[in-house]
Amino acid sequence: MDYFDLMKEYCDEVNFEFNDEKYNKFIRYKDLICEWNKKINITAITDEYEIIKKHFIDCIGIFNFVPLREAKNIIDIGTGGGFPGIPMKIIKDDFNITLLDSLNKRVNFLNEVVNNLGFKNIIAIHGRAEDYAKKDEYRESFDIAVSRAVANLTVLSELCIPYVKVGGYFIAMKGPSVLDEVKEARSAISILGGKLEDIININIKGINLNHNLVIIRKSSHTNRLYPRKAGIVSKKPLK
Ligand code: SAM
Repeated sequence: MDYFDLMKEYCDEVNFEFNDEKYNKFIRYKDLICEWNKKINITAITDEYEIIKKHFIDCIGIFNFVPLREAKNIIDIGTGGGFPGIPMKIIKDDFNITLLDSLNKRVNFLNEVVNNLGFKNIIAIHGRAEDYAKKDEYRESFDIAVSRAVANLTVLSELCIPYVKVGGYFIAMKGPSVLDEVKEARSAISILGGKLEDIININIKGINLNHNLVIIRKSSHTNRLYPRKAGIVSKKPLK
């Protein structure tokens, strides 16, 4: 099966059209990842088929959460090489996406991707989630915050929930240990003004990936005390 058919199959599963334009953007993105990976560490995955499966198709899975389609302003916290934010933008071009990462060389890469793919309404920012959440233009300003492979759910909730508007969602993309993480994070989620709404299991057929979307709804404002300073959030996780 070629890459077009493979990606189309997963777009069909989440009811999104897949076409040549989206395919060409994914391929240009993959080529940029491979090119930059020779100079700086964008991702540990270097094989192109693996990039398509473990990054692109995995990220397309986030559309299994249907209300995501209605969202406008989205922030991807600890986006690294652009996951899941860039695949989300390729699939649905009318999203306004903010990509945030604390590693400047990855942000330089993201700016190159944004220019090369000709995206509008997407911005890559260099900074720590703990700091940007204190700024009024970011705090409680997004319909949805997303994050993949950044920290355990307790830490991640403190980094992400402050960005979400009341009534919006925080979506954490998690691996097989999701239930333990959710149990551990219950109290933190509630302190931060969130409410666990769902855990969506995504078993990608034909591809050995068992991933989950943890869906947290923002039900009340986050106290200004959170997130605490960089370092404290992970050293003294909320209990
Ligand atoms: N989300 C991407 C993915 O799924 O491939 C990248 C995952 S990578 C393992 C974690 C990223 O989170 C790194 O690029 C790191 O710089 C960033 N990061 C970690 N802590 C952060 C923080 N407090 N604020 C912003 N970015 C952070």
